[in-house]
Amino acid sequence: MSKPVLIVGAGPAGLAAAGALAGAGQPVVLVDKESRLGGAPILSGYAKLVPTGEWAKDAIGGMVRRVEQDALVMVKKGARVESFEGEPGGFRAMLSDGASLEAGAAILATGFTHFDSVNKPEWGFGTFPDVVTTTQVEQMISSGRGVRCPSDGRKPQRVAILLCVGSRDRQIGREWCSKICCTVSCNIAMEIREELPECHVYIYYMDIRTYGLNETFYWKSQEEFKVKYIKARIAEVTSDGQKLIVKGEDTLVKRPITIPFDMVVHAIGMDPNVENKSIAGVFGVGLQEHGHIARGSYGASSATSRPGVFVAGAATGPETIDDSIAQGNAAAMAALAMLRRKAAA
Ligand SMILES: Cc1cc2nc3c(=O)[nH]c(=O)nc-3n(C[C@H](O)[C@H](O)[C@H](O)COP(=O)(O)OP(=O)(O)OC[C@H]3O[C@@H](n4cnc5c(N)ncnc54)[C@H](O)[C@@H]3O)c2cc1C
Ligand code: SF4
Repeated sequence: MSKPVLIVGAGPAGLAAAGALAGAGQPVVLVDKESRLGGAPILSGYAKLVPTGEWAKDAIGGMVRRVEQDALVMVKKGARVESFEGEPGGFRAMLSDGASLEAGAAILATGFTHFDSVNKPEWGFGTFPDVVTTTQVEQMISSGRGVRCPSDGRKPQRVAILLCVGSRDRQIGREWCSKICCTVSCNIAMEIREELPECHVYIYYMDIRTYGLNETFYWKSQEEFKVKYIKARIAEVTSDGQKLIVKGEDTLVKRPITIPFDMVVHAIGMDPNVENKSIAGVFGVGLQEHGHIARGSYGASSATSRPGVFVAGAATGPETIDDSIAQGNAAAMAALAMLRRKAAA
């Protein structure tokens, strides 16, 4: 039997890779820095996922349970890889918990870091407690507490969701689109309207990018849930002492608009993992211009710049869960093919 494949990161991508390899009879060591597996959907307490409507704790939690119960997967929680030396088929890794292990290949599935909204101070996060992020609203819903203003626990009567916070913003060095936040925001808007039918929900957008079949979320949110959309450039979020005030320009009619709200939600984007520089250093792989892990193209899309080290999921740039899982499966197949070729040589 060949040496195990080392998978770093146990989010959707790493879990998919581990499941695929174990299913093919290949032993795996799965390392995650956190004490719980599941990546962002579990660690950040997402509620119902788009586009399936499944609860994250069931869908991704199910992947965690299957991997944790698989005898071919050795799970190491609360650990990082500190060194990784050798050649394809014969690597040695040292972990932060002192363990040393052999690996035939590695898959980096180290994901992303949520944009920290304090980097957009003019939009009120960190200044006003009722300016929150999509992640916080997901947690309010998934915990069963419901959507409430953090300042005093009241039910909001008016909510604004601001899209593209920390994405498509060259002023703060983030020119990428985070792909999924439009659809997530349409879904959150509908969930708020469902829980609080008296609450008015507005989505402020530059463009709506509910691409592919996700466009149904855009139409349904307007037609069935009466969510209102404003194409706007937002200047600032302030407070008059009672309400949050969103000021900007309606870019369709080219007029200034100032609207009061009880709660403002930042649809935060997906930054490169803040640890990518050190991960790239340990594994000897290249980063692309924005700091994501660089991957090969087309026929070798799971490859990194180092033979025997593969990559999958949001480690490579903003990705959806579906695409992260598909990339995890692809990286597993690429690693397995490499090991089989080595064994046959
Ligand atoms: C608010 C919000 C809501 C979203 N909702 C949806 C949705 O409904 N549907 C959808 O398709 N997508 C959604 N997404 C996107 C989704 O979060 C990603 O597609 C998905 O998490 C990517 O999976 P991943 O496994 O690549 O990375 P991650 O989920 O980021 O997992 C990476 C894992 O690697 C671990 N790790 C990181 N660095 C290290 C290290 N150095 N050593 C060891 N372990 C490490 C982390 O602890 C983590 O467990 C949402 C994103 C946001 C921001
Ligand atoms: S998916 Fe929508 S909200 Fe997210 S960055 Fe792209 S355009 Fe902005």
